[in-house]
Amino acid sequence: MARGAGTGLAGGCLPSEGGLVISLMRMNRVLEVDYENQIAVVEPGLVNLHLSWAVGPHGFYYAPDPSSQQACTLGGNIANNSGGPHTLKYGVTTNHVLGLEVVLPDGEICWLGGKTRDPQGYDLVGVFVGSEGTFGIATKIVVRILRKPQTVKTMLAWFGEVREASEAVSAIIGRGLVPAAMEMIDHLTIQAVEDAFDCGYPRDAAAALLVELDGLAAGMDAQAERVIQACRDSGARDVRVAKDEAERQLLWKGRKSAFGAFGRIAPAYMVMDGVIPRTKLPYVLGRVNEIAAAHGLRVGNDFHAGDGNLHPNTLYDPRKPGEEERVVAAGGEILKVCAEVGGSITGEHGIGLEKIDYMPLIFSEADLDCMRRVKEAWNPSGRCNPGKMFPTNKACVEVGPAYRQHPIEQQGLAQRF
Ligand SMILES: Cc1cc2nc3c(=O)[nH]c(=O)nc-3n(C[C@H](O)[C@H](O)[C@H](O)COP(=O)(O)OP(=O)(O)OC[C@H]3O[C@@H](n4cnc5c(N)ncnc54)[C@H](O)[C@@H]3O)c2cc1C
Repeated sequence: MARGAGTGLAGGCLPSEGGLVISLMRMNRVLEVDYENQIAVVEPGLVNLHLSWAVGPHGFYYAPDPSSQQACTLGGNIANNSGGPHTLKYGVTTNHVLGLEVVLPDGEICWLGGKTRDPQGYDLVGVFVGSEGTFGIATKIVVRILRKPQTVKTMLAWFGEVREASEAVSAIIGRGLVPAAMEMIDHLTIQAVEDAFDCGYPRDAAAALLVELDGLAAGMDAQAERVIQACRDSGARDVRVAKDEAERQLLWKGRKSAFGAFGRIAPAYMVMDGVIPRTKLPYVLGRVNEIAAAHGLRVGNDFHAGDGNLHPNTLYDPRKPGEEERVVAAGGEILKVCAEVGGSITGEHGIGLEKIDYMPLIFSEADLDCMRRVKEAWNPSGRCNPGKMFPTNKACVEVGPAYRQHPIEQQGLAQRF
């Protein structure tokens, strides 16, 4: 099984059934860049951000930007179909991959797709992206690179109530605006981020919304005004526009480093990754807080609000008997709420080991069977990343919670400090 940087949050790269782990980290070269056709060919161990660094001096960048982009690899991004703050406007990894060299489980090396858009035949690149290492190992990746936008405008709006911030998200989209990113950070997360980085988020806000517009300079100020007005109409206490690149970077640092900042306020946390329709944000965030409180836990939310991709981070102390079990139970209840409102159990972190038991919340037995057959077509021996996404040689319902089956892997389900 393949391993990139090991930043995955669903236990995907853990050898839960033993076997051989192949680290791709040293296959980290940019092999080719074709600026005229806007593509790059890279090795899978290349760190996401390093691709933008490589093509940046020529005015280009790679759009999918997971918050872990300083460490995670393109190979891991392919496997998990990773997203990030800017995928609201630009789409997730699958929208940026044109071709893949893949080593199949029997050792055969083949190419899927290539260097052009819309290749003939089935979209096997699209099938492979998001397969979480269960179809084979990507060894070369052809990606689209984009021209850097002419102008970027970043705004921070803050609110006295989470409900108002949630309503602002729908109000902005409802007015026909498509921000490049729209991220929400709640009160508890603001405390952690301010303690750690002093980024300038107002400590007394119940929630803050980081909104970024990008594109042509012409008309940008007018768009920004409309975003600001939508926030004010939704009850924003105030809105600030980053005055320069340094302030913009500081605001983004707060958001992108929020997971790490939780280390300031708790010895451990477990991050969930549910997706909901945007309009359900006020209801679901309320339910998240109720569920955490019912288990005697605290939860910090920092997430891709524009995509309705929640990341409730349940804080806890693993040294306290029973606390970890309560965290896992609360996480399950939160995912159930996401499924009930028509959402999904993962937006970007994948199923891995963590969410195997939750698959029936959104898929019928017929759906699961169909997916198993697709997996068997690629990986008939079950050799590639066994035990992930589906229990090996067992029906989903026959298997107990993954965390109980694999006590060592349980370590991978939470970030510890
Ligand atoms: C602080 C933090 C913030 C994060 N923010 C985001 C975010 O905003 N958006 C997001 O989507 N994710 C986020 N993540 C999750 C994680 O970073 C992504 O899932 C990332 O894509 C994993 O990359 P990796 O190189 O670490 O892969 P690993 O964790 O090493 O592996 C992940 C999966 O990919 C498979 N894999 C790795 N390389 C290959 C390959 N070459 N071929 C086939 N399969 C392979 C592995 O077998 C495994 O199943 C975050 C994680 C952290 C710790």
